[in-house]
Amino acid sequence: MRENIYTIPINEAFENPCGCPLCRLESKLSRDALEYVMGAAMMEPDVRLETNRLGFCRAHLDEMLGMKNRLGLSLILQTHLEEVRKKGLPKGGLLGKPDCASAAKQLRKTEESCFVCRRVNEFMEHYYSNLLHMWEESDEFRRKFDGAEYICLHHLTELLERGASALGKKRQAEFTEHAVALAAAHFDRLQADVDTFCKSFEYQNAGKPMTEGEKRAAERIADALTGAVIEA
Ligand SMILES: [Zn+2]
Ligand SMILES: [Zn+2]
Repeated sequence: MRENIYTIPINEAFENPCGCPLCRLESKLSRDALEYVMGAAMMEPDVRLETNRLGFCRAHLDEMLGMKNRLGLSLILQTHLEEVRKKGLPKGGLLGKPDCASAAKQLRKTEESCFVCRRVNEFMEHYYSNLLHMWEESDEFRRKFDGAEYICLHHLTELLERGASALGKKRQAEFTEHAVALAAAHFDRLQADVDTFCKSFEYQNAGKPMTEGEKRAAERIADALTGAVIEA
């Protein structure tokens, strides 16, 4: 299979034996998008039009607040807030009377949109389609896929949704089996680890040593169910 700008990072993510490879890819995209928007792109008029229009979700705002460019962030938010006040806040409905449903619908759009999420999601679509193509075409990649520690529930859902249209019927059954098996095996391990953690609070188990994995069972379950932010 010919390599392209998507296949190389996908292969690299699946060569790492820790965590969900798609969480790894998405975390890197998110970091790149944040650096982009907080860097030189901030002063590009085209980018500012988009950040003014789309704004940011809470998770990405938290990351931006933690980055060292408070003036830059304030400038971005200054013009975004101006736009929210101008366009984002609903006026009254029919005949000037307020209409809760349409006002809520308009606000929901403002609340839910995020410049960084949109940029990440656009890239993720390319990763999903390339990954499914690689899985279909390459024995070597199918082996790599099975070698992942797990696929989180969030990315398993995203992959299967796209597999429904990208893969033929026979391939779909095989892909579903392998992808679900990766998540299921991990859930079995997590169940055992969280059981051990909870039992460690019973008096007869006081002082019994636990593995790092058992101690971090709650965090690992959260990652496996909803996806994880993986540091570089
Ligand atoms: Zn994931
Ligand atoms: Zn976001």
